Amino acid sequence: MPKLAIDRLDHAPKTVLEKSGRSARGLSARGLCALIDALPEPMWAKDRSHRWVMVNDAFCNYMGRTRVELLGKTERDFSPDREASIIWENDETVFATGQARIDEVVAINQDELPRVLRTHLSLLRDTAERDLLIGVIREADLPTTLGPYVDRDEDNDSQRAPQERRKLDRLTSQQVRYAFSDPLTQLLNRRSFMNLFDTTKTNRCESAAIFVVGIDHIKLVNDRFGHCVGDGVIIEVADRLRASIRNIDILGRLDGDEFIVLAEDIDSMQAERIADKILLEIARPMKLSQQDYRVSVSIGVAMFPSHGSDAQDLVRNAGMALRWCKRRRRGGIEFYSDGASVAAERISAIEMKLPLALDHSSLTLHYQPIVSCNDRSVQGFEALVRWQDDQLGELTPSEFIPLAERMGLIYELGQTVLDQACAYITTVADPKISVWVNVSGLQLMDETFPIFVAETLQKHEISGERLLLEITESAAMDADAAVWQVFDELASIGVRLVIDDFGTGFSNLSRLKELPFAAIKIDQEFIHDLPNSPQDCAIFRATVAIAKELNLKIVAEGIENAGQEDFVRRLSVDYLQGYRYGRPMSDVKFKKYRKA
Ligand code: C2E
Ligand code: CA
Ligand code: CA
Repeated sequence: MPKLAIDRLDHAPKTVLEKSGRSARGLSARGLCALIDALPEPMWAKDRSHRWVMVNDAFCNYMGRTRVELLGKTERDFSPDREASIIWENDETVFATGQARIDEVVAINQDELPRVLRTHLSLLRDTAERDLLIGVIREADLPTTLGPYVDRDEDNDSQRAPQERRKLDRLTSQQVRYAFSDPLTQLLNRRSFMNLFDTTKTNRCESAAIFVVGIDHIKLVNDRFGHCVGDGVIIEVADRLRASIRNIDILGRLDGDEFIVLAEDIDSMQAERIADKILLEIARPMKLSQQDYRVSVSIGVAMFPSHGSDAQDLVRNAGMALRWCKRRRRGGIEFYSDGASVAAERISAIEMKLPLALDHSSLTLHYQPIVSCNDRSVQGFEALVRWQDDQLGELTPSEFIPLAERMGLIYELGQTVLDQACAYITTVADPKISVWVNVSGLQLMDETFPIFVAETLQKHEISGERLLLEITESAAMDADAAVWQVFDELASIGVRLVIDDFGTGFSNLSRLKELPFAAIKIDQEFIHDLPNSPQDCAIFRATVAIAKELNLKIVAEGIENAGQEDFVRRLSVDYLQGYRYGRPMSDVKFKKYRKA
């Protein structure tokens, strides 16, 4: 089997591509990506679980999806079930036998002219001995188009070998069905819906609403209960949508978990009523194979003509409203608006740029001093990630960390942060000064995380005592047995763990006692109004008492003024952090702590 030297094929999450964090030598990742992206043919690589770990630009265009949407997903996330199963089986044969194969499919392009596409599949083994399935799509040489499928040009057909023609005939009929309706729900598919919309809409009505309805968390349903239940939910949602709208309204299925409704001759008030009805209808429990399931949907709405004049614009804008809705409040309704579109576009831009920012190491760290409550001497620095982009300006971590988590990029981001933070602490002369690094709950679910931490400490030749990892209270309390194991392993290499944002979650005190934590950071929310808010004073006092009882060191963060400092000092907390002692700044600002 041929071998391919791959540093990193793409921006796939580390858990997918190189969980151990070690990479092989060979053509540089950037060089390889540029080369593959320059190819005119759609090309991809899938791992043994059929997930895309590399896709080139041409394949993204072919799928009508962004790289970010595709990576880590499988054909089942995007294609109708039967189509996905055929592709899955074909791929599986190559994985099982190692034999390359060519499959033909008939695709119908925008002019409704079927084209024959050949998918070349072959198996490569990367330098870590993992199998990667490489696929390339090429248009068949003869004929380039078959003509409209309804009156196919017989002369053209006769030019091909009989065996090939038979294969095409079979695939054509199958494909033609996929081309117009969704096999699972029998609803119109995206293409048919758009065609119908453009031919009917503007001639017939003065106003209309487009609803894009997305099922919330269908992936969770699939993962937890299997694809059969997932499909059952989709069919049930389709039925309930049909029941919620008027007979004259048009219903289609856009993608895996998204539906679309066109309701003509209605204004936005009526549109809202329809959307409310849909939400109520879907909220009722669903009985599938004797079990009750509950799902919710989110709805994005665009109005014709104010939010667009053709199907493309309206569907895009309703989709944007849906994505905005899912970010703000799942299970709700959002109408398209300029504000929503600006925010949604910024989020999309961040999603597009984040993999590149990671690749080009354009994320940097700022450091904020943590001082002793006794004498204000610096005891440590908290590392806070920063990203300055030419077009987007300065981005706050609150803007991009949640996206990195959703996109599976948090592992890579976390590794970069840890590496930079450890490199920084080696430049600080006083060995008692430590670096405090924020860790996302997702990183803790990767059982190789402690190995990476140990390797990083070793690489920079620093002891575990110089590193503290901050874990939010909610992540700490959600920890299952596997995460506890991670905590224990980290503690065993001398790394101390800190509960961040303490007070914002609901800590189970007995659990807190058992976890190997060294300190808690009381959330700024409870510091801000000290000493004027009696309620916050009471909460602060109680929290300090609990922490002392549990033998945990206490950090008060977000201290900005003397009043706050006096209050917390009287309760003898251990460490202070806040603008009063120093803002987060680049490492060059802390020259005096540097080694000579
Ligand atoms: P956090 O861990 O609670 O970090 C403290 C935040 O409060 C920082 O915001 C800091 O700049 C800000 N801050 C510090 N002192 C004061 C003060 O006196 N007054 C006020 N008003 N604010 C103060 P920042 O840098 O925007 O970070 C926001 C959050 O992003 C962090 O909250 C943390 O949860 C997350 N974050 C930052 N860097 C990383 C990272 O490398 N990895 C992960 N997973 N999360 C990170
Ligand atoms: Ca923190
Ligand atoms: Ca905090």
